[in-house]
Amino acid sequence: MKSTLTASQIVRTILSFALFALIAVFTLAHPLALHLPGSGYAFLRGNFGLKLATAFLCIAALILLGRITYSLRDFSPLLYASYVLFAFIVFFVLERLTCDVGPSSHWITYRIQWIQILSAISVAIIAATVSPNLQRRFEGPHARLEHDKFLAAAESSLDDFYIFSGIPDSSGNIVDFRFAYLNPNAERRLHTSRETLIGKVLSEVRPFAVSSGILERYLEVVRTGVPFTTEVFIDDEMIKATWIHVQAVKLGDGVAVTSRDFTERKRITDRVNFLAHYDPLTELANRTLLQYRLDAAIVQAQRENQKVAVFMIDIDHFKQINDSLGHSVGDLLLQAVGKRLLSSVRETDTVARMGGDEFVIVIPNFKSLSDVERFGMQMVKAVDQSISIGDHELNVTASIGLSIYPDAGLEAEQLLKNADAAMYVVKDTGRNGLHLFSQTMS
Ligand code: GH3
Ligand code: MG
Repeated sequence: MKSTLTASQIVRTILSFALFALIAVFTLAHPLALHLPGSGYAFLRGNFGLKLATAFLCIAALILLGRITYSLRDFSPLLYASYVLFAFIVFFVLERLTCDVGPSSHWITYRIQWIQILSAISVAIIAATVSPNLQRRFEGPHARLEHDKFLAAAESSLDDFYIFSGIPDSSGNIVDFRFAYLNPNAERRLHTSRETLIGKVLSEVRPFAVSSGILERYLEVVRTGVPFTTEVFIDDEMIKATWIHVQAVKLGDGVAVTSRDFTERKRITDRVNFLAHYDPLTELANRTLLQYRLDAAIVQAQRENQKVAVFMIDIDHFKQINDSLGHSVGDLLLQAVGKRLLSSVRETDTVARMGGDEFVIVIPNFKSLSDVERFGMQMVKAVDQSISIGDHELNVTASIGLSIYPDAGLEAEQLLKNADAAMYVVKDTGRNGLHLFSQTMS
């Protein structure tokens, strides 16, 4: 991205060069020189009023150039050109003062001319060094205090803090940003020193800002003035797999951005949310999530005049596995059965573990009762396939009870209770089978 000048900057640049030309003619052509004989400080002799006017003009030019230099700080060639002009004006003033002393008496002008050259170079270097600080001096002590307060707050902030200055296109619209400031935390986050980053173009240094859409959001902040806060998962070269909370506010033609790593907090929140809704052993829905899903299925079925199937699945003689092979083998068996059930259903169905060796499957919007019963028998057969756990080949079966909304009940609790009752019919009649709840049972 190439920097371009806005209309006002072009005007200011032209003004600075015009000003420079005027001062150059005014001082070098010596239009006011009187060349009075004598010695001492020339400025105090001759036409004092005109010389004072010259001096004021030079000082005004220096101040203006200082301001222009500051406003052009993003455009290196013009910045350095301004430094040189700045130094030359200072030099012209010196030249003017020394010339006024008279050709015969001043040793600096006519005897040791290289001193002039050296002093010009020194002035140029000094001007280049002090010029960026002039703006702060112009702003006065109050602004300096404000600046110092800002620095103290930003440097000691526990968050990452950045200031990006806008880069305009030819029509003055901001299209990208430059790093103008970053605090020590931001340096650590990006693993890069501020000296390396300041002045660099955001989209070039961090392509992730473009691909993630963050840059576009910053541009929107500049356009609209409305701040934004968002959570971003960062997985680019500079920052690996980190969740960051980003907040951006408009600052002049750029943005001030605060960001904070909340990866650890997010991990904990995600875990808490997971544990609230899922069974940690099988990673299936738990009783709470099952309740939500079943309630939602009932509401939808009610609205669309549909039916909902609820299967209650309990492994037969599971205690024997625990007792003979140990609790950990029992756990692995529960996980394997859970996976089998999950792989047999559609995405819209819910498989939950109620606790112990008991699972529930909810099927909303099924086509016909015979389809659902066929599915139930498939579940019975799916469990009745040998499962290998470590060195063990296990053969287990399941008893499955089925209840249908609205035939077996209008509420989740009733449907679960009736599916359980149907499942116990299977337990009582030899296990390894399916039974559909009917009102005659209750
Ligand atoms: P039934 O055929 O009548 O269902 O007999 P069962 O042996 O399967 O007995 P039941 O379903 O009543 O009991 C399930 C057992 O599962 C009780 C408990 O010891 C065991 N259990 C409960 N939770 C866990 C668990 O998280 N891991 C393991 N390994 N066992 C569990
Ligand atoms: Mg059981």
